[in-house]
Amino acid sequence: MPELPEVETVVRGLRSLITGQTIQRAEVYREKTVPGSTPQAFAAAIQGHTIKSVTRRAKYLLFQLEPNSVLLGHLRMTGKFVVADPPSEPAPHDRAWFWLGNGQVLIFTDMRNFGTLELFPSATEIPKLQVLGPEPLTEDFDARYLYPRLKASSKEIKPFLLDQRLVAGIGNIYASEILFASSVLPQRSSHSLKKKEVQAIVENTRRILLSAIEYNGTSVSDFRQVDEKTGEFQNFLQVYDKESQPCPRCEVPLQRIVQQQRSTFFCIGCQK
Ligand SMILES: [Zn+2]
Repeated sequence: MPELPEVETVVRGLRSLITGQTIQRAEVYREKTVPGSTPQAFAAAIQGHTIKSVTRRAKYLLFQLEPNSVLLGHLRMTGKFVVADPPSEPAPHDRAWFWLGNGQVLIFTDMRNFGTLELFPSATEIPKLQVLGPEPLTEDFDARYLYPRLKASSKEIKPFLLDQRLVAGIGNIYASEILFASSVLPQRSSHSLKKKEVQAIVENTRRILLSAIEYNGTSVSDFRQVDEKTGEFQNFLQVYDKESQPCPRCEVPLQRIVQQQRSTFFCIGCQK
């Protein structure tokens, strides 16, 4: 599932390809892709709008449109945006096509069909964005922010890092990587973390996410960039999906556990 670095990679790829383009026509091929609307109403509402900017908040893509509105996209498990010369017909998993003024089409394709596209009058009127925690790459996310919130929680640290209300954009892959880099066991109660461990989590979050963005995200399943290339950060993962392989630091075999239905990877030898 795309996390912050993958969504940021998509946003950067789209920005250079579609900013300034006017959506001349749209077609939506799956009702579930446009919750709260219908394919016809959604296509009619977005037609004629110009894409002013493409940005990211947590794992959401925000397309600022003119006249004033916002297209909010979420890739969920397998959603992808592709910009291409119009193929002769939609591929089986294409969920929406947007014909652009330059003759290309912006295609939203989604094999598993959990991804969503929604239209809002403005970003401040999107309730689900209002409840998100700070962006981990901004100064709002620091130990002064994080420490008291962890102190007040008895949740295990790894699932808590996935809580988008605590910090926005971290998902399953990076949570395992961040805790390994911070030498913190994923099963620890959040309130048991010491200040220097919290500081390490903050620093490693920033370092790992920035590095993953630099390598265009992680393609462990089917994440692709806008140009359909894979990301490269999977080559730098230390523990994720490496059960039974030797720890890169201490060589003890890495372990996998399940926390809140999600796999967690860690080293019993060097995470405390
Ligand atoms: Zn180890």
